[in-house]
Amino acid sequence: MEKKQCPRCKTLIEPMPILYGLPGPEMVLGAQAGKIRLGGCTVEPESADYVCPECDAALPWVRQPGDDDGIEDDALGAYWPGDAGASPRQ
Ligand SMILES: [Zn+2]
Repeated sequence: MEKKQCPRCKTLIEPMPILYGLPGPEMVLGAQAGKIRLGGCTVEPESADYVCPECDAALPWVRQPGDDDGIEDDALGAYWPGDAGASPRQ
């Protein structure tokens, strides 16, 4: 996956996918290897698809607007309640 700059820690990172559901052996191995993150069995509307491996920030910007995954695009801003207007350098 293309590297992106984390909006929180500003590190150039490869977004780490979060997999939801009861983890099987492969998912556990992947998590132990640091390739994926286990998101648990419950998928909330706010659940992110990816996290930053450096600072654990949820990364809603990996999603493409209009993705047919049942998440309202308008809800994406809710991932960053503390960051609204907190980026004076941009
Ligand atoms: Zn980060």
